[in-house]
Amino acid sequence: TRRGWRDRLSGSGFARGLSSLFVRHPKLDDDLLDELETILITADVGIETSTELVENLRARMHKREFADADALLAALRQALLVRLALVEKPLDVGDRLPFVILTVGINGVGKTTTIGKLARRYRDEGREVLLAAGDTFRAAAVEQLKTWGARNSVPVISQGQDADSASVIFDALQTARARGTNVLIADTAGRLHTQGGLMDELGKIARVLKKLDPEAPHEVLMVIDGTTGQNALSQLRQFRQIVGVTGLVVTKLDGTAKGGVVFALAREFGLPIRYVGLGEGATDLRTFNAEAFVDGLLP
Ligand code: GDP
Repeated sequence: TRRGWRDRLSGSGFARGLSSLFVRHPKLDDDLLDELETILITADVGIETSTELVENLRARMHKREFADADALLAALRQALLVRLALVEKPLDVGDRLPFVILTVGINGVGKTTTIGKLARRYRDEGREVLLAAGDTFRAAAVEQLKTWGARNSVPVISQGQDADSASVIFDALQTARARGTNVLIADTAGRLHTQGGLMDELGKIARVLKKLDPEAPHEVLMVIDGTTGQNALSQLRQFRQIVGVTGLVVTKLDGTAKGGVVFALAREFGLPIRYVGLGEGATDLRTFNAEAFVDGLLP
């Protein structure tokens, strides 16, 4: 619900900056817009978008288009929404048996947590879900996935530590097909410092999946940490050279001062933002909704 978004986002540094701005500057003037620009840039909205947006509002203000701060706020809301309209494309897992989601992203971004939340969500929608513990590099990742699975009654396919990731995921797809599973979600390793190794591994995973289903994976979902701001952009640039990312999850948007990165991602890549993480709990993953997001940030 809308209320949930507001509760989670209003405490974020970005939202607090915006609401205090309009309290401190009830009057329409250039100072208000200068400060707005600083807030947008500080929240990692990106220089181009921030400048463009503020200069457009400034021109309109000087033409006396806005009767008061509320009118300017409405125009700001509209401008923010327009920038996200194209990336609001929910993931449709449809009725394939199974729909295969390959999740990628560097360690610590919330990938395992996101897989757990997705499993819970699809299960709650009445789908059969299977998880593949493809991050075989870290024993902890396999254990963490098993814990999520056990807690939410979702089966997990795993092999021993140091097993071949592609083999685990291939095995999982075979199992999923045999069981008539609706959604298979595969975890992968997230160590980017050995880019060559990761490239080989993800390439091999895609190849073996295609042996069983030429269209798999149906979604390559990259998980991005929303608190890392500009760094998130460079991660995505790097990953796109390794694998064809088809959708994004932006995590940890609750509480971060860097939530503006969602706008920067939309501008630079135009990739669908499928879900956002608004907390650590099993149900804190929301289908991305531009209006709920923008309204959660604005006063
Ligand atoms: P991984 O290394 O990418 O698999 O990352 P984890 O799934 O282990 O998550 C790292 C930390 O981020 C954990 O403490 C999670 O609880 C936390 N986390 C993940 N998603 C969110 C979110 O949307 N909001 C918040 N506040 N924390 C999150």
